[in-house]
Amino acid sequence: MTAVVIDGKLVADGIRAQVKASVADRISKGLSVPGLATVLVGDDPASQAYVRSKHKACQELGINSYAHTLPADSSQVEVEKLVSQLNQDPSIHGILVQLPLPKGLDEEKVLSAISLSKDVDGFHPINIGHLAQKGREPLFVPCTPAGVMVLLEKSGVKFAGAKAVVLGRSNIVGMPVSLLLLKANATVTICHSRTANLAQEIQKADILVAAIGQPNMVKGDWVKPGAVVIDVGINRADDPSNKRGYHLVGDVDYDEVSQVAGAITPVPGGVGPMTIAMLMRSTLHAAELADKQTL
Ligand code: NDP
Repeated sequence: MTAVVIDGKLVADGIRAQVKASVADRISKGLSVPGLATVLVGDDPASQAYVRSKHKACQELGINSYAHTLPADSSQVEVEKLVSQLNQDPSIHGILVQLPLPKGLDEEKVLSAISLSKDVDGFHPINIGHLAQKGREPLFVPCTPAGVMVLLEKSGVKFAGAKAVVLGRSNIVGMPVSLLLLKANATVTICHSRTANLAQEIQKADILVAAIGQPNMVKGDWVKPGAVVIDVGINRADDPSNKRGYHLVGDVDYDEVSQVAGAITPVPGGVGPMTIAMLMRSTLHAAELADKQTL
């Protein structure tokens, strides 16, 4: 079998085009321009690059974006004070605190300080709590997990009755993906670094989501023929032939697994482009929530 390739770039471009059209429509009706504020604490180059790409996307879609940068040695009070100011600002609909925060800052307290209705990253403990509860809906869902679900829907896989295995249990990816799959009525197994017989667990999966940060770890003979495989991993593999000195690979051995799976996301060009597209959609949603609050 040769897997169908799920083109995340194409799907993400479609979402961005929809958001752009909705933003233009809002503006033509005299509604507010959606506004996203980012909070970057410190000068980690990867975090700086992520934040830059979020602002670039805002610019392309007609969303206002406001960059706030604080020094790495900022105190808890200073970071929370900035979040509180952004909560009060009506031109800002979404607040994104770039993670991870520098050591010494209490991440949960900072995330808890974000107004629930501006929590476009979906990491506020109450939004995550609602994600975990039957019959409750969070106002926002974390962007990468939300993107994973959109790609799974595009693959046409049926969730009810399917066995899903999520490889990884981080707060940012594995855990919220598992909760979303459960909400969608899949039967979910979560695997992690202490899981025994990992390959055997994965072999049961109709849906496999890999988010472990281990290059090419999932092999072809670990995967059930016909499974839908979503590879969240982004890892650098040394590559002297590349001018950057490396190329990107996922957590799944693409060459092997694409011969077995029914559908698969590539790296790059799979989940990666979805994260920012979902953030743009959430920022629009936040502006729509604010419209209702001011009615
Ligand atoms: P974390 O390091 O926070 O979590 C990794 C998880 O994988 C942990 O639950 C860990 O288990 C588990 N794990 C690690 N090694 C193994 C192993 N050998 N066997 C089984 N389980 C293992 O990573 P993230 O969740 O933040 O990210 C995962 C990957 O996704 C990374 O490659 C990251 O770059 C990528 N990513 C991609 C995004 C995108 O936009 N496409 C966004 C975010 C992340 P334990 O809990 O036991 O330690």
